[in-house]
Amino acid sequence: MDKLSEKSSVPFDQEKYEEAGRKDPLLVACNYSFSLPEIDSDNLVEYDNQGKPVLLHKLMIDGIKELFKAAEDFNPEFRQACKISSGYRSIEQLEQLRHDRYFLKLLETYLEKEDEKDPLKMIQKNMARKPTEQERLIKYFGLKKSPELIELEKKFAGDSEKFLSTVDPEMQEFLREEALKKVDQSVPYAGRSDHHTGLAVDLPHTIVKWNFYEWLEANAYFHGFIRRYTEETIKYTRVNPEIWHWRYVGKKHATKIHELGITIDEYIVDGHYKEMIE
Ligand SMILES: [Zn+2]
Repeated sequence: MDKLSEKSSVPFDQEKYEEAGRKDPLLVACNYSFSLPEIDSDNLVEYDNQGKPVLLHKLMIDGIKELFKAAEDFNPEFRQACKISSGYRSIEQLEQLRHDRYFLKLLETYLEKEDEKDPLKMIQKNMARKPTEQERLIKYFGLKKSPELIELEKKFAGDSEKFLSTVDPEMQEFLREEALKKVDQSVPYAGRSDHHTGLAVDLPHTIVKWNFYEWLEANAYFHGFIRRYTEETIKYTRVNPEIWHWRYVGKKHATKIHELGITIDEYIVDGHYKEMIE
């Protein structure tokens, strides 16, 4: 068994977490979650005479308010909807995704290392300023695969071990570790997805392109939602920042978290939630 499947095989004890959730839904909300179908962003966008997309801002806000309303009081129907939505991934799907991502990250890291051997590419890399979160996300979604990457993908067809056998042992170890680290930052262990609580929603990525998250940052708490993964939560979750991922924790907790200006993780770790449930 390789490192990856060893770690992914942690069983998800649904009953245990449902039980904990009945006592304090927030505890469940902190560990596991399910997602809602993406709002059809095509219906929310119209194009101006230059063909540039314009956000129908009000429609978007109304749509998201509807979505938020559905979650009210930890509505079981909302949670059920999350479980059958297109955004929800089963344990098997997550296993598969982790393996696919692992293969891709091995190849990407290998190509990055190759780039570093090229002095010109290194200079360009060092000169690039640190992108803002928004720029990073736009780049991420618009990212085109390089011809070298496509070629490697084709050649090794998902066979990580076969690919690794082509590089020297020291490099193998480095690539394994790096790839695994990158997978952990973007795909949860099977059964540990934040979506598995039925209390998390992935909003359409449109919010990134049109600064829509500013409205969310200012208003979502009022509807019981908080942003789950930020730069500040990395040290607790090891998950990369996700602007689109919002978590229902109830109005009481969300308002307190917003007032304190902290992350949900600090809210739990520092025990603030206790005074709210007494
Ligand atoms: Zn998500």
